[in-house]
Amino acid sequence: MASNIAVGGVLTECNHLGGLPIDLSVYESSELYRGDQVLTLSTSVVGGMLSDLRVQRAAPRPLLFAAACSGGPITADCYSQLRTELLERLAQSLPIDGLLMPLHGAALAEGEDDPEGDMIRAARDIVGAAVPIVVTLDLHANITPTMVSCADALLAWETYPHRDQFDTGRRAARLLSQMLTGAARPTMAMAKVPVITSAIHGSTDGNDPFADLMRKTKALEQQDNVLSTSLFLIHPYMDVAGMGSGGLVITDNDLDRARSLASELALDYWARRHDLEPATWTPAEAIAHGGAVAGAPVLLVETADCCGGGAAGDSIATLAALLDAPEKPAAFAPVVDPSAAAICHAAGSGSQVTLELGHHLDPRWGKPRTVTGTVEKLSDGRFTYTGGQWEGHHEQMGPTAVLAIDRIKVLIMSRATYDWADEQWRALDLNPLDAKFFVVKNPMNYRLTFAPLAAGCYILDTPGPTPASLKHVRFQKLTRPYFPADAEIEALAPTVLT
Ligand SMILES: [Zn+2]
Repeated sequence: MASNIAVGGVLTECNHLGGLPIDLSVYESSELYRGDQVLTLSTSVVGGMLSDLRVQRAAPRPLLFAAACSGGPITADCYSQLRTELLERLAQSLPIDGLLMPLHGAALAEGEDDPEGDMIRAARDIVGAAVPIVVTLDLHANITPTMVSCADALLAWETYPHRDQFDTGRRAARLLSQMLTGAARPTMAMAKVPVITSAIHGSTDGNDPFADLMRKTKALEQQDNVLSTSLFLIHPYMDVAGMGSGGLVITDNDLDRARSLASELALDYWARRHDLEPATWTPAEAIAHGGAVAGAPVLLVETADCCGGGAAGDSIATLAALLDAPEKPAAFAPVVDPSAAAICHAAGSGSQVTLELGHHLDPRWGKPRTVTGTVEKLSDGRFTYTGGQWEGHHEQMGPTAVLAIDRIKVLIMSRATYDWADEQWRALDLNPLDAKFFVVKNPMNYRLTFAPLAAGCYILDTPGPTPASLKHVRFQKLTRPYFPADAEIEALAPTVLT
C-alpha cells in the first residue's frame, strides 16, 4: 500500500535588528498555498519533495506551504494563524506514515525565537513518537535543541547562492522512505561554535572558506553509516540565546559517531573564523579607489540594506556618497521607497521632480535626502525569477520608477523583493553593466550576474540591519563570548545537541 506522507511548513528568514514585520498580506502576495494548491508546486524544495514522492508512488498529504522574502519577525497574529492552520491540517490528515517539513531555520515571530522548533514539536505532539519527521532547512539556519530533539532528521541546502532546494527536497523524501522500509535509522548530532559572521565569505563555490568547510562536510557522506551531513553559517541578524555555526551529522544508528564527527566540523569551523570575517570600506573610500580602477562595472556592495536578509531596502547611504563624489560618476543604485515611487508615477515619464528619497520605511538607519532628477522610466514592477528558490515565480516590486540624477540612475521600488540575479533591473530594461559603479544590496547573489564581469568589488560598511560585520552590533540575548566580538575564547568546546 502506498505510504501517506504529509508535506507542509513555513519558510521564512527573519531579522531582529531591523526591517518591517511580516504579516499575512506579505505571504499572500508572495507564496501561500493551502491543501491541494501545494501539489501544484514543481520547483524549489516542495517541488523536490513531491517529485520524489511520485517516484516512490507515495501518496502526498498536502498541508500548507508559506514563504516570503525576509523581514522583521513574523507578527504574532500571522504566526499563530499559519501555525494553527498547518497543525489543524496535519491533524486532519492522520493517519500518516511520515511528515516532510520544508522550513527555513532562521524564522522569528513576535514572542517566539524558535518558530521552527515550536512547529516541529507541535507536529510531533500530533503525529506521535513513531511517525518519522524529516525537515529541510536553509544552511543559514539557527539549529536549536528543540529542532534536534523533536525531528528525526534535519537536512540543509548544500549551496550558497542557494541552487539546490529541489535536490534537498528530494533527499529528504528519500531519507524518509528509507526510514519507512527500515533501511535507515537516523541518529543526529549538531555541534556549534559561537561564530557569528555575515555571508560575505560564505559561498560554497571556489575558494571561499565556507566552500572548503562544506567540501569537507559533504565528504563525510562517503563514509559508512553516515546518512547525511550539513554545514550551517548562521543567519547572523537574529538576537537569540545560544546562536552559533557548525556541523550536523546524521549516522545510521550510531549517535556517538554523529557526535564526534559533528564536533570535528565545529572545531574546523572555529579555526576558519578569521577567514570568514570580511574587510570593509566606507562608500567614499570605495568610490575614490574604484574610480581609479580601469573598466566597469565597479560593484559597491551595500550588504547592510539587504532585503533578502530582512532589511527594508530603503537606505541611501551609498547613493548619497555617489551624489557627493567630486565628479558624479555614471552609476546605478536601488532603493525601496513607495512615496518617492508614487511621486514619480504622479509626475509621469520625462518629468523633472524634486522629492525626499530614502529611509522612509525603517528610519533607524539614516535620514531622507532631497534630490532632483528626471523620471526616465515607469513600471508596475512585475517580474519573474529565473533561478533560486522562487524560480519561475511572478513577483512584484509595486509601482517602480527610474529616476536619473545627473549620471546616476536610481531604481525606485515600492516593495522589497529578494535579489536573485538581475531580474529587477531587467524588468525596467536596464543593463547595469552600462555604468561605472553599480550598487548591490546583498552579500552573495550579486556574484551570480555581476562578479564574473566586474572590474572591482568593494564590501561596504554602512548603517543597516544586515551589516557585513557583526563586530559592533550590540546583541541583547546572544551573550559574550562570541566571534568576532571576542577573537579568542579560552577552552572553547563546541555545544553539542542530540
Ligand atoms: Zn540562506
